[in-house]
Amino acid sequence: MENGYSIKSKPIYSLLLWDDKALFHMIIVQGLGGMSVLKMFQIKFPKNPVIIFYSKKYMNEVDYPKLINNTYCNNILINENDDDLFFAVENMLPEMFMGLRIYVVGSENFIWTVSKIADKYGYDDSNIIKELTNTLARSVYCTHCKLIMNDINTNIIKCFGCNKVLIIREHFSRRLGAYMGVMVNAESAYDFPKVEEIFP
Ligand SMILES: [Zn+2]
Repeated sequence: MENGYSIKSKPIYSLLLWDDKALFHMIIVQGLGGMSVLKMFQIKFPKNPVIIFYSKKYMNEVDYPKLINNTYCNNILINENDDDLFFAVENMLPEMFMGLRIYVVGSENFIWTVSKIADKYGYDDSNIIKELTNTLARSVYCTHCKLIMNDINTNIIKCFGCNKVLIIREHFSRRLGAYMGVMVNAESAYDFPKVEEIFP
């Protein structure tokens, strides 16, 4: 790629930092994101209540949720996978009140699924503090059959829905939480760009 490019639709992720004005902190974590939560607690433990939802997907041998639970905050709900976590978050959100701050750390699919759930309850994604970790795998939206495919690591994929060969564009839709996949424009099999794992 050339120097000096920028992609407007690409979301910018930051680091999780406490919002001092929040009346209630909800931290939603996936796998290695536990490291970011530990860093938050090493800075401070806020006065107002904290609840943590943890998915063990992408965890390595370090038991971050246990460490967080034993050392800093025992108001932690640990889930074996993302789907159980999304269910738990969705159950909790209607009981939340004004002054809630949501923090989310995980893969892009994880971040934007949480964002879509929160949106149902009136939390705009601009109010969610997001940190990207675990993987750069993308969710891809097929612009031909409208299927969304998660955890894509390569620049080119065959759509699971319509079988078209798609190239993954940099254009990101916040509403869909996915990058656009557009049919490869090739006259023959020889024109196909090389399939490479570029989102490890
Ligand atoms: Zn398709």
